[in-house]
Amino acid sequence: MQKTISIVIPVFNEEKNIPLIAHEIVRIFGTIPQYAYEIIFVDDGSRDNSQKVMEDLAKIDEKIKTIEFSRNFGKESATSAGIHYATGDAVIAIDADLQHPVSLIPQLIRRWENGADVVIGLRTKNEGQSAIKSFCSFVYYKIINAISDTPIEPGATDFRLIDRKVVDEFNKFTEHDRMTRGLIDWLGFKREFVAFQANERANGEAQYSLLKLAKLAVSSAVSHSLIPLKMAGYLGTCIIFTAGIGGLVVFIQRYMLNDMLGWNISGTAQLAILMIFFMGVMLACLGLIALYIGNIHKEVSGRPLYVVRKKRNLK
Ligand code: UDP
Ligand code: MG
Repeated sequence: MQKTISIVIPVFNEEKNIPLIAHEIVRIFGTIPQYAYEIIFVDDGSRDNSQKVMEDLAKIDEKIKTIEFSRNFGKESATSAGIHYATGDAVIAIDADLQHPVSLIPQLIRRWENGADVVIGLRTKNEGQSAIKSFCSFVYYKIINAISDTPIEPGATDFRLIDRKVVDEFNKFTEHDRMTRGLIDWLGFKREFVAFQANERANGEAQYSLLKLAKLAVSSAVSHSLIPLKMAGYLGTCIIFTAGIGGLVVFIQRYMLNDMLGWNISGTAQLAILMIFFMGVMLACLGLIALYIGNIHKEVSGRPLYVVRKKRNLK
């Protein structure tokens, strides 16, 4: 039976790029006629003519489907929506700005046919990306991989193919504050990487400002790890011990041995030790709270307990 590939494209102010990418995808699928396909444009509250442009395309070609958001929800939500509505045997998410090479699609499909469940585009070089953005992304990956429960491959992009069974699992996620790529990584499955060089954006400006990226970075770090909060707890425990021992030594030497060693510790210093001790207690309590929040977070985000890749003789 002919397999169908769903192409999901999040769109935010891309009126010039929509016809370009649609045309490019139709052309590429012309070279692999054994596959059927659908193109799902998800308009993420564009303020230009994007909606009309994609609708006009959908009128001529029924393989082109469109979803319109009521406002800008962000790329992560747009991609998720596209994946929800996709009907294909595999879904490929790709940016509208032609930074992800459409010509790589047949290769992604080949890897999938050879057994991979998730085929991830790995960006080797990003033309036109500012030095500061590259540096930030480098630091970000270093930090997140040090603290996160799910390791993230540096350079891994949203340009990726996911198999139907991954799609079905992905659709079970209920969390709102999400990073699509992080969730797909969390799911696991058989993953393979395909390297590519990112092109320069075809038309328009990159929508992701540094501030927006920083927000995404923080939210993904927070949703994948409690280490920052737990660190406060560890720090507090260390402080309790040091200040506790220090305080004990001072107390014994000053009041029990009547300053036998002649240290002559002032009242202010004693007060300082006492304050540091209680600061430690407070930080340790924060760490304790982290444990509770961790449990709440796990329950509230309603993630599946486990994810099955394959079953045999079972429904
Ligand atoms: N995008 C979106 N909603 C937004 C911002 C961006 O759907 O709020 C889409 C955008 O149209 C493009 C993709 O997400 O298809 C990547 O956006 P952009 O090129 O601005 O980001 P970058 O290339 O810097 O990752
Ligand atoms: Mg881009």
